[in-house]
Amino acid sequence: MSKLSTSDSGAGHAPGHDPHCLFCKIIAKQIPSRTVFEDDEFYAFHDIAPWAPVHFLLIPKLHIPSMAQITEAQSGLMGRMMALVPRLALQEGCNPYPDGGYRLVTNTGVEGGQEVRHLHFHIMGGSRPWLRG
Ligand code: AMP
Ligand code: ZN
Repeated sequence: MSKLSTSDSGAGHAPGHDPHCLFCKIIAKQIPSRTVFEDDEFYAFHDIAPWAPVHFLLIPKLHIPSMAQITEAQSGLMGRMMALVPRLALQEGCNPYPDGGYRLVTNTGVEGGQEVRHLHFHIMGGSRPWLRG
């Protein structure tokens, strides 16, 4: 498991977990979500405000604020995260490539449109038109 400093100051909380982070609370089941997938390292759940017929979020359980903190130290974790995308997209109803497919988006920072500061992939797909995008 890669070591990465986090904003976690919290004694009594799991390492790599930020007690003030919305997505860490979702991982901890303190806030309900509709699960798409879960294993030791990752959690995927339906976006609460979908803008495509399929719209879910894939997150590492480790609290990493954004893509801006990613270095080669996380290459294994990121590779495993990327490898989940095609499988979960098909599982959730995205149509097969090349006529189907999906959009993979990672907003990073304020100017990148990021609202929740826990690294997440948006996976959006399904028959068009979509609400946005
Ligand atoms: P971003 O703007 O890239 O940070 O995306 C954050 C996403 O999280 C948005 O698409 C929100 O709709 C979604 N979101 C916020 N709160 C929740 C929640 N409680 N459950 C599921 N999705 C959420
Ligand atoms: Zn978090």
